[in-house]
Amino acid sequence: MKIIMFGPPGVGKGTYSSRIAQKLGIVNISTGDIFREHLDRGTELGRRIESYMKKGKLVPDEIVANIMRRRLTQKDCEGGFILDGYPRTVTQAMALEDEKIDVIITLIVPDEILIAKCVARRICKDCGEIYNILNLDRTIEDVRYVVPSMSPQIEKKCDKCGGGLIQRIDDNPQMIKTRLEIYREQSKPVVKYYHGRIQFIEINMTGAVNLMVNVIMEKLTPILNKL
Ligand code: AMP
Repeated sequence: MKIIMFGPPGVGKGTYSSRIAQKLGIVNISTGDIFREHLDRGTELGRRIESYMKKGKLVPDEIVANIMRRRLTQKDCEGGFILDGYPRTVTQAMALEDEKIDVIITLIVPDEILIAKCVARRICKDCGEIYNILNLDRTIEDVRYVVPSMSPQIEKKCDKCGGGLIQRIDDNPQMIKTRLEIYREQSKPVVKYYHGRIQFIEINMTGAVNLMVNVIMEKLTPILNKL
């Protein structure tokens, strides 16, 4: 099964992609993680993309498309994959045309919550595991959002590998606003591009992670069974 996980920054694409990938036994590919790794290792590519990432801007399409073209030919992609954060522009979607995508999962949350969630996000500097220290309970336009925090058991230490937890350089309120604008201007048109050609699952992320994983799996299962 080939899946695109789509949605604004901070909605939980990384968290849900990795959980769903694990359940389906397919590989999870996050362009953000690939780029952060290059930044950390100080590679040539890392130096080329640094200024975009630090400003919360999109890395140029040709760089992303090249990386992904190569990544998707690797053996672990043969059984299917989830793309977390790709494609993010119509040009990137066009570069992905050779892959037969089965479904696009769109995650939705109001902006106010996205900003609060991004500010409270922490990631492990070693293994990339995602945490969130926000205990969310808010009602917006008559919809209640109750998402308990996903804090580590020991403060600032990763439960999985013991690594230190850090904040992403682009998870501050000003840059989150920039990323949301970019999402609206450049990434939202991707939905229109695929409309009517690929099946969509749209989910309002109102609850705890385990609950939402079950909701996603319930909607995915009938699609999986038809493949
Ligand atoms: P993410 O972890 O998905 O929020 O991505 C973090 C940052 O990596 C983004 O703000 C962009 O600078 C860059 N990035 C990740 N994926 C893409 C993409 N598909 N196209 C362009 N830039 C990307």
